[in-house]
This record gives sequence, C-alpha cells and structure tokens, in this order.
Amino acid sequence: MIPFKYECPDSVEGAISLLRQGNARVLAGGTDLIPQMREGRRSAELVIDLKRIPELTTISELTDGGLAIGAAVSATKIASHPRIASAYPAVAASVRLIGSLQVQTRASLGGNICNAAPSADGVPAVICHKARARIAGPEGRREIALEEIFAGPGRTTLGPGEILTAIVLPAPEPCSAAHYLRFTPRREMDIAVAGAGTWIKLDENGAIAEARITLASVGPTPLRAPSAEARLIGEKPIQSLIEEAGRLAAGDARPISDTRGSAEYRRTLVSVLTARALAACCGSLGLEVEAP
Ligand SMILES: Cc1cc2nc3c(=O)[nH]c(=O)nc-3n(C[C@H](O)[C@H](O)[C@H](O)COP(=O)(O)OP(=O)(O)OC[C@H]3O[C@@H](n4cnc5c(N)ncnc54)[C@H](O)[C@@H]3O)c2cc1C
Repeated sequence: MIPFKYECPDSVEGAISLLRQGNARVLAGGTDLIPQMREGRRSAELVIDLKRIPELTTISELTDGGLAIGAAVSATKIASHPRIASAYPAVAASVRLIGSLQVQTRASLGGNICNAAPSADGVPAVICHKARARIAGPEGRREIALEEIFAGPGRTTLGPGEILTAIVLPAPEPCSAAHYLRFTPRREMDIAVAGAGTWIKLDENGAIAEARITLASVGPTPLRAPSAEARLIGEKPIQSLIEEAGRLAAGDARPISDTRGSAEYRRTLVSVLTARALAACCGSLGLEVEAP
C-alpha cells in the first residue's frame, strides 16, 4: 500500500477543511477503503478518520419521532440500539448481514452507502424507510433523499469536500412493516447476487396504501421497483398479488451477467426475494400470506 498521512479531526468542519487539501479521502470503519487501497483500486495521500467526531458517531432521537444515525456509527451499535431494533427491525437486521461480527464492529452504515456498491446490504431497508441523507461540505449543509446519493458503481453525488454526516429515518408509520432479503451462495461473508427490500403500509380497510421496493445487485445503483410498487397500491395483500409484484420487480431490475450469476438468474432471484420479503412484511403486520 502506498504510504499516506493520517488525521483524526474532532469536528465535521475540521474534516471538511482537511478534505480540501488535495488527494484526501475519509475513512469510517475502513472495511472497504483499506482493502481497496491495498489492492490499488483507490489511492489517497491523506486519510481522514471520522470515528472521533461525536456528531458522526452518535444515534439521536429527533423531536418528530424519527432517528438520526451518525454516518460513522458501527453496524454493531446500530443493530443493538433498542429503538432501531424495535421500530426499524429491518434496518437492524440488514446491517447485521454485513460481513462478520468483527467486520460489523468497524463497518458503518455511512461507509456502506458512500462506497456505493450496488450490492450494499445496509441500503435497501433504509431507502424503503424513506431515509434522508444529511450532507456537510464547504458550501454548508444540505439534506436529500438517500437514494439520490448514488451515481453509479463506486460513485456518489457528493460534491468535492462533502461528507455524509447522518442517515435520517422518519418516524415509523402506523400499520407499516419493512423487510430485506438477499441471496448469497454462502450463508455469510459473501456479496449478494441479488437482494430485495420491501416496505408496505396498510390503510384502515387492510389494503396497501403505500409500498416501497428497493433492489440490490441488479443495477448500477440500488434500484426502486416502480411497476411492482404501483401494482400493490389499493390491493389487499394476498399470495397471488405478492407473486405478481415479484415478477414486476424482476422486470424493473437492470441486472448484468457476471461471475456471480447471469442476468436471467438474478431476475428470478428478484422475483422470489421480493415476494418473500413482502410476505414477511405481511407476517409482521399479523397477516398470513404464503410466500413462493
Ligand atoms: C470481509 C468483509 C465482508 C464484507 N461483507 C459485506 C456484506 O456482507 N455486505 C455488505 O454490504 N458489505 C460487506 N462488506 C463491505 C463493507 O464492510 C461495508 O460496505 C461497510 O459498511 C463499509 O463501511 P466502512 O465504515 O468500513 O467504510 P469505509 O471503508 O471507511 O469507507 C467506504 C467508502 O466510503 C467513503 N466514506 C465513508 N464514510 C463516509 C462519509 N461519512 N462521507 C463520505 N464518504 C464516506 C470512504 O471514503 C470510502 O470510499 C464486507 C467487507 C469485508 C472486508
């Protein structure tokens, strides 16, 4: 690995001012960045550690009932946070899929997002929950829908000198549930061949009022599945409907063929995983809907 300078500022402003110094890169857990630098896929003359910045390493309750997860908070801390485990269980479960217990003690949700791998396991559940990204940079602070941060494989829409500071989860909505499922050939320590996150909200008659489906590993970025989402609205969740939504999500996917699976195989996985994740949402809402 090429030698680099290391700084660990204690404020967001300090990190941003260091980032302006030429070829610099921020590091949270380093579980993506360090292997990439070792392999020569990324380089930096200055590495800026974010783990000493209180704002980035804290989970805060918001006055509107939502939560702000600091971008550098570890997966372990997220998964074991009592409010996340009870109000956003799909988020807790999805960060628990990242690598191993050892990896999870370092890996952050912010790093999972900013590494911008289409296979990132922490991402679909937070997009399903309508998460927003808080961003800070030389021009000040801004907030965007989290899904707008992805530009392509390994690329984000963050501008020069900008960092992600927090992932904001809105207050959980009544009669709603989310679930994320992935397929990996090995049970753990593997990259998803395909993944599907789903979220549904029921109206007072038990019909689906809102639906969000986010797919992993089947496009250049995490992808929403708009035709599958639209098909669910206004309908009672029954087995034939969730299976149809799965098939529509497979049509919304934009998979490639590579060493981990063909495009056709990935579409089949999307169909099955989406239907199963929807069935799991129904289960969380006390409805018995069989999954394929
Ligand atoms: C053995 C192993 C197994 C793994 N298994 C999985 C898995 O099953 N599923 C999965 O999704 N991932 C997996 N990963 C990948 C990795 O652990 C995750 O993507 C992790 O969440 C990255 O977080 P990090 O804090 O380590 O990021 P880092 O490596 O610190 O950063 C990743 C990238 O994001 C940038 N970055 C970090 N934080 C910010 C910020 N706040 N603002 C702007 N840019 C930022 C960095 O500059 C870097 O480019 C695995 C990695 C290893 C080594």
